[in-house]
Amino acid sequence: MKSNCNSKFNARKKKTQSDIKRDRLSRLRSATPDGFEVLYELSKTVDHYFPDLWAQLDSVADPRSRSRYSIGCILLGSIFLFLFKQESRNGYNQFRQQRQFSQNYRNIFGMNLPHMDTVNAVFKTLDSNQLERLKAKLVKQLLKKKVFEKFKLFGRDIQIVVDATRTHSFAEKHCDDCLCTTHTYFKLTKSGFNNLKKEHGQIVESASALIDESLHGFKALDKALNKHLGSAFTALHIMSLQKAFTVKTSTHYFHAVLEAKVVASNGFCISIATEWLCHTKGFYDKQDCELNAFKRLAKKMKAYFPRLPVCIIADGLYPSAPFFQICKDNSWRYIVTYKDGNLKSLRRDIHDLLPLNIRNNFKVNKTIKNWVIKHENTWIADLDYHDHSLSWVQCREEKISSNGEVKTTRFEYLTNVSLKEQSEARELINSGRIRQKIENEGFNIQKNNGFKLKHKYSRTSFQALKNYYQCLQIAHMIDQLCYLSKRMKQTIKAWGTTLKHCIQNIQSALLYGELDQDWIEHLREKRTQFRY
Ligand SMILES: [Zn+2]
Repeated sequence: MKSNCNSKFNARKKKTQSDIKRDRLSRLRSATPDGFEVLYELSKTVDHYFPDLWAQLDSVADPRSRSRYSIGCILLGSIFLFLFKQESRNGYNQFRQQRQFSQNYRNIFGMNLPHMDTVNAVFKTLDSNQLERLKAKLVKQLLKKKVFEKFKLFGRDIQIVVDATRTHSFAEKHCDDCLCTTHTYFKLTKSGFNNLKKEHGQIVESASALIDESLHGFKALDKALNKHLGSAFTALHIMSLQKAFTVKTSTHYFHAVLEAKVVASNGFCISIATEWLCHTKGFYDKQDCELNAFKRLAKKMKAYFPRLPVCIIADGLYPSAPFFQICKDNSWRYIVTYKDGNLKSLRRDIHDLLPLNIRNNFKVNKTIKNWVIKHENTWIADLDYHDHSLSWVQCREEKISSNGEVKTTRFEYLTNVSLKEQSEARELINSGRIRQKIENEGFNIQKNNGFKLKHKYSRTSFQALKNYYQCLQIAHMIDQLCYLSKRMKQTIKAWGTTLKHCIQNIQSALLYGELDQDWIEHLREKRTQFRY
């Protein structure tokens, strides 16, 4: 009886598993028509903004003397890897092996899909500056088509956020250009604790809570000791307390990049220039490395876009006389986050002037979802810091939720825009806060939403990693131009689906669908408007 039950159960289980497989396949096939529509939208986006993209890809200097695939094929294959969120070279190669997939790809792009090992071999020797220049050319085409026109600050400046992020991490040294940091960990063992007790007696009993806890760095050690033994005792006996802890160090290797991205309130976050961080004076110091990289990045930006009216938006690492000078030399405006402890003489001036600053205040109240948001804003113009004329703006924000929870935050910015009107201060605060977009719409999306920025597309070559990185930036640019258009947003809403689902539909369309060449030609001839 029992075995009978088991076999029935197994039969049901078996049936369920094959059902799941069949359901999945049928779901994929039914997604095919929507998938092709999204694919056509992407194709239209490229045709609209970059009608000569294929020629531009083919014009990149090929480092090989003989080749089966043209350089255009190689670059398109890599852009495709990111645009269709294949997430790894392997995933892409598996799709490539499917006959229908390769045929559809050929019909759309008029090129063969190269194997990713071939792409990788080329990327190891291709000069990544070429792809960066290509990316800048594409951005110029967008500027010419006035894509960012309605998002300009004061109707004049393109808003460019500058920020750095870690791209790849390694347990072992990956290449000669790897950056590295050494972390120190403190641990209190039982015998270490007993030694402490022998030396100081019962007074250190409360430090038993720290036994076997791993404390990362001197700051964490100091904080834990202050908490458990009091600040006076810790300060007096810091040397003997430290001796009781075992010390371990570990070294991490990584690459990090400084990005300049055009940002806009609709979600645009498009890379215009890239600079890889490198060692200065033999060790990694975040502020030093980033500010030095900014000097190199600024030169590139000026060379790519010499006459572009720009407002640089940067975080609390940047307010400094050298940064202000670079912006002055390039005739750029800027908005930088001003943190406590930065530029102390300027802080004293603001403190002295604030009581006299009666006229330059205004309040803004708004409701967003379940939050009532109150802003108290103030500004002071015509401040002087080492011969740089600055304005200071502050926004105190109070957020009150429908259940009475209150959150308060303070934002402060410095700018070389000479503020005269309340409306200018208001626009400036909104721009300053747009900086967070580089984290959310820029780095986080590239790291998490299928682009897999942190994936080691090449495990041995930094040169190849840089080339993949530039292809990712170009793919993300096309992706944003397509999916952030009002028409595409409405389409996705009407389908009652998500962007992630749309991408999956593209994959199923290429795998199972048969491309209607006439439809593509018809769409290519049709004029389409892109609004954001
Ligand atoms: Zn490396």
